[in-house]
Amino acid sequence: MSQTFTDEELMAYADERLPVDQAAELERLLRSSTDLVQRLAELVQSRESLDPSLGAMWRRGRWSCPPRAVWSAFVDGRLGDGLSQHLRFHVEVIGCRVCAANLADLQQSGDHPDSEGRVRKIFQSSAGRLAAPPSPARE
Ligand SMILES: [Zn+2]
Repeated sequence: MSQTFTDEELMAYADERLPVDQAAELERLLRSSTDLVQRLAELVQSRESLDPSLGAMWRRGRWSCPPRAVWSAFVDGRLGDGLSQHLRFHVEVIGCRVCAANLADLQQSGDHPDSEGRVRKIFQSSAGRLAAPPSPARE
């Protein structure tokens, strides 16, 4: 059965805030409905012109999204309870898909950009291959 989406849900999709299962359903509908595509396009366009508020800028700029290094620390269990709770809320309650994807990637790969293991691995793999730092006098 095809679900109908509210304007709010369509905007959440545009901002990548719609939970993954709903987004998948919406994308399926968008592929078969030019009316729905048109409605989504009009919503985005009218918001861009009517809502120059800080809140809108916040949503569009993803300013509330923690950087990947913070998610990495979360995966490693290096964050306190308060911040960990905030991050879980961001993904589980707000449903931020960008951060959920980031988190899943970090959990699967174990390849954390700021972890000591990775730094060591990079250092070891490039040992003896790095040229001496350029002389400051060189132009
Ligand atoms: Zn996020």
